[in-house]
Amino acid sequence: MKINPIIPQREKLHNILWEQVQPNSTYQIDLELEDQKYTYYNESCYRFPINPYTTPSLSFLCDSVKERLHIHSNIMFCIENDTYINGACMTSGNKEYPDIVRITSGVVNMLTNDELAFIIGHELGHVIMQNGLVQLFFCQLYKDTAPNHLYHQFHVYQLLSELEADRYGYLACGRNLDTFVSYQYKFTGGIDQQRFGVSTDTFLKANQRHMQKFLHGGWLGKWHPAHALRIEAIRLFATCKTNRELQTKMKPIIDSIMNCDD
Ligand SMILES: [Zn+2]
Repeated sequence: MKINPIIPQREKLHNILWEQVQPNSTYQIDLELEDQKYTYYNESCYRFPINPYTTPSLSFLCDSVKERLHIHSNIMFCIENDTYINGACMTSGNKEYPDIVRITSGVVNMLTNDELAFIIGHELGHVIMQNGLVQLFFCQLYKDTAPNHLYHQFHVYQLLSELEADRYGYLACGRNLDTFVSYQYKFTGGIDQQRFGVSTDTFLKANQRHMQKFLHGGWLGKWHPAHALRIEAIRLFATCKTNRELQTKMKPIIDSIMNCDD
C-alpha cells in the first residue's frame, strides 16, 4: 500500500491559515525585491546558481529529485560557500520569478549523492506544501500582532511542515532508511556513521528511547521539532504498512507538537 506523505493535521492547518490570511492580506508581491533576490544569487561572490555549466552532476541530481517528486514549477538551485550543513527554500510568490532552493558547500562536500537527495527533497517538500506563501502572508499581515490562538496554529503548522518535508526528503533519497540515518549523523553531529560502526537499527532503537523525553513537554525547537522526534517520525513513515497504522503510531508525536508552548 502506498503511504500518503501528507500529514492531515498539517494540511488542515494550511487551509485554516490560508483562508485567514489570504483574503485579508493587502500584501503585494514586491517584484523589485524578487528581482534583487534573483540577482543576489546570480551575481554574488560567495554563491552561484547550480546549472549544467557550473556544476553539471549536481544540476542533474537536483533535476532528478525534482522529477522524482513530480515538481514542474521553475526552481532555481543555488550553492552557497559555507561549511555549515544546511539548506533553505525561498518562495517567490510570483510566477515571473522561480522559487529558490539554497544548499551550502558544507552539504555538498560532506554528503553522498543519496544523502544530498534527502536534503534537496526536504527543501522541495516546502515548495510542494507552499509553506513559504503562508509564511509570507502571515508575517506581512500580523508581524508580531497575531492573536494567541492564531499564532499557535501558525507555530504548529511550521513544526508539522518540517515533519512532512522530511517525508519528501525520504521519498527523494529512494526510501532508504540507511541513507536517512547516515544523513542524520552528518547533519546533526557532523560525523560519519560508518566510522563508529553503529548500525541503522541500533541508532534508531537508541533514538526511540531518547525521544521519549521530548514527548511530554520536553524541548522543541522554535521552528523545527526536536531531532529525535523527526528521526522517529521518519522511522514510522518508512516502516508502517498502512496509512491508518502510521496515523495511530504518529499520534504521540503529533499531539506533543499540537500542545507545544509558543
Ligand atoms: Zn525545512
